[in-house]
Order: sequence, then structure tokens, then C-alpha cells
Amino acid sequence: MHSISKRLSILFIMCTIAAILLVTLFVNITVTNKFNQYMVDLQNKRYQKIVAYLEDVYKREGKWTEDTGVELMHEAYMGNYCLTLLDQNKKPVWGMDPNTIKNQLNRDAMPVQDKGVYTTKSFEIKVNSKIVGYVDIGQYSSILMTEEDVNFKDSINKSIVISGALTLLIISGFSLYFSKQFSNPISEVARMSVNLSKGNFESKTSIKSNIIELKDLQESVNVLAGKLKYQDTLRKRLVSDISHEIRTPLNVLQNNLEAMIDGVYPVTIEKLHYLNEEVIRFGKLINNLNILKEFEAESTKLKYETIYLDEFIAEICKDFYLDADKKSIKVDLTIQPNHLYLIQGDKDQLKQVFINLFSNVLKFTEQGGRMQVKLYEKIKNMVVEVSDNGIGIKQEDLPFIFERLYRGDMSRHQIEGNGIGLTIVKNILQLHNASIDVESKVGKGTKFTIHFPKNEIS
Ligand code: ADP
Repeated sequence: MHSISKRLSILFIMCTIAAILLVTLFVNITVTNKFNQYMVDLQNKRYQKIVAYLEDVYKREGKWTEDTGVELMHEAYMGNYCLTLLDQNKKPVWGMDPNTIKNQLNRDAMPVQDKGVYTTKSFEIKVNSKIVGYVDIGQYSSILMTEEDVNFKDSINKSIVISGALTLLIISGFSLYFSKQFSNPISEVARMSVNLSKGNFESKTSIKSNIIELKDLQESVNVLAGKLKYQDTLRKRLVSDISHEIRTPLNVLQNNLEAMIDGVYPVTIEKLHYLNEEVIRFGKLINNLNILKEFEAESTKLKYETIYLDEFIAEICKDFYLDADKKSIKVDLTIQPNHLYLIQGDKDQLKQVFINLFSNVLKFTEQGGRMQVKLYEKIKNMVVEVSDNGIGIKQEDLPFIFERLYRGDMSRHQIEGNGIGLTIVKNILQLHNASIDVESKVGKGTKFTIHFPKNEIS
């Protein structure tokens, strides 16, 4: 088993070595071929130059003598090739000794291959299209290179090897750096997953990656951690809330019944009524939970009909004026004029939504408060706002208020309720493709905003 960074580094380095070897091979083959071609061209030009020179000399002198063109010998000697001048009958006029060249090569320790194989080429010397003589040019390899040529070729090969080694070194450094860029965020995510599996939802990935997929992975794991944390808090609160909701009425019943059995309380009709109310309250809670179960199972069938939201909301508000009045709460209904607030929805269910929201306002707003209901249009939505200047909701409770049985802090448990109203509201609205948001400040008030999509409900 290897770590990602090690595996990636090995991969990078292996690819680099393969690339360097291939490049070296191709460059070497190309350089050698081109160089050899260059040398052959050079040699041919030299041959032509020698032949042309001798032709010129013959034209000038009209015959071959032992001195004709001997000045070429010096250059031939320096260039490590051997010249022999022959007349038209192929009889030597003058010639160089190949052994002098051989000795010179040995003395200079020239790394000429095929040093021992001496080859000659014969060229005709023509004047006025008539053969007047021959020149033989001999040398100790097919392409005879000067020391500079050999050094030049060697230095190219050396440069290729050095640049290959340097590239390998640089790539190794880069590969280590880049492979860490992959492996660090991944191992961070792996470490975080282990933490999550151990129930530690607080950890967050901190390493910033600029690779889109890794950044997405990190963000998803952070979101997952957030959701798990939320679910965990919810689960813990739900258990305590359920036990509280069930225990309270049972305690009341038990204490009162025990007191009656012990003869501490007389069994009176009022007491029995009181106890009966507790049983009814308990029954309501179970009923509400049942309603919720149906919404969550999406088994509730909605009866869609055309609803004019403006009239519909005004009607429900009217029912609340009396209760609001009892608590001296002022109800303001503002409807933006000249719009058609037409939706398709289930009247009974949507009525339940507004009843729940309005009753909460009455429950959580003190005497002399105010409830404002606004209806207006936006580009894609019809918006209903229900706001009050009541006791407000704590910031840390806001994410949970739509959850089952959530009632905020314990002090609110004095106020009647069971923490199901808003869960039902959210479920009904979801079935209508509508959304609900809440903003609140403790001591200042709360605002619920519902967005109904225009013409989307069928
Ligand atoms: P219930 O009202 O039966 O407790 P809800 O689900 O309707 O349950 O509301 C959940 C909680 O949200 C309430 O217990 C309360 O703490 C808070 N809440 C809802 N509406 C308001 C409001 N208008 N003002 C202040 N708090 C509110």
C-alpha cells in the first residue's frame, strides 16, 4: 500500500524518465543523422573544390608536372585526407602516403572509427569535356571528422544527458509539491470522515485546495458534517422534548389521581373536568403527531381549487380580530392593489397554515402588540408576510423552529403549544411548492415570509 503522494510522485518520475529517454533517443538519432549528412555534404563540396582547382590549374598550364597543385597537399594533410594526382593514363603524377595520415591520427589519438579501413574515391578531371587526369582522394573512414567535429558531437550528447538529469531533478521536486496538493486535502477529508464516524461533528476541513473537484469534495464533507451535527442536535432535542410533552400531562394526571385516591383532593366535577382537559390535550398532541406523520409520508391528498389569496387571507384575518381584540393586539392587513393573487391550492390545508401562524402571533405577542399581514407580488412569486412585535425567537433556535416538537427554550413551555404547528405549516406549503422563511429578533418581533410560485401549481 502506498500513499497518494508517493504513488503520484512515482508516476510522475516514471513518466519523466520515459519522456527523457525517448527525447534523448530521438534527439540523438536526429542530431547524428543531420550531422552525418552535414559532413557528407561538406566532404562532397571539398571533392568538387579539389577537382575544380585541378581543372583550373591544367587549363592554365596545359600539362601535369610534379608541382601541379602540390599546394593542395598541405590542406589535405591538415584535413586528414590523402590526395593522388594521376594523368589521363592513370599514371601517378604525385601522391601522398596514406601512412603519414594514419600516423598523424594515431599521434592525435583521434577517436575515428574504422581508422584501419582506408577507402579512396577517384574523380575525373575534365577540360573542355575531355578527361585530362584523375585525382584519388582517400581517407580512413567514410566520414572523416576533425577533432572539433567529434568534440562538438560529444558535447551535444553530454548536454542532452545533463539536461535530462536536471529535468529529472526539477520534475521530482515539482511532483513532490503537486502530489502533496492532491494528497493533503484528500487525507484531510479522510481524517474528517473518521471523526464524523466517531460522532465528532465539530471538525471542519481547513486546507484550501484550488482543484475544483477536491474543493467540491471538501465543501460537501463540510456540509455533510453540518447536516449531521444539525440532525444530532435535533435528535437529542426531540427525545427530550417528546419525553417532556408526554411526561407533563401524565404527571398531572398521576399526581391528581393519587391525591384523589389518598383522599387529599376531593373528587369533584371540576377536578374531573380539569383532568379530562389534560387527557384531551394529550390526545391532541397524539392527533397532531398523526397528522404530521401523514404529511411526511405524503399520503395526504390535496383537493386543489382556485384560491384568490387576497380574499382568502382577509377572511381568515376576520376570524382573528375577536381573539386579537381580547389581547388588545392590533391586526393590520395590507394588500398591494391591482394584482391578481390567484393560486391553485387546498383551501382547508392553506387555512391551517395561516391559522397556525396567526395563533402563534397571538400566543407570542404581549398585550397591546401588533400583527401585520402583507400580500404583494414579486417577479416570480406572490409573497405573504406575517410579522409581529412579540417576544421573538433566539438566533440559535431559528434553524429548528420548523422541526417536530421544537418549542425553543423551556421558558416558552408555559405558553400553550406542542411544537408541531410550524412543522405542519412547512409540510403543507411544501406540498404547494411554496417556501417559508423566518427572521426574528428577541424582544423585537418575528416575521414569517411565504413565497407562492406564480402559475406553477396545477
Ligand atoms: P407551538 O406554537 O405549538 O409551540 P410551533 O411549531 O407553532 O409550536 O412553534 C414552534 C416554536 O416557534 C414556538 O414554540 C415558539 O418558540 C416559536 N415561535 C413560533 N412563532 C412565533 C412567533 N410569532 N413569535 C415568537 N416565537 C414564535
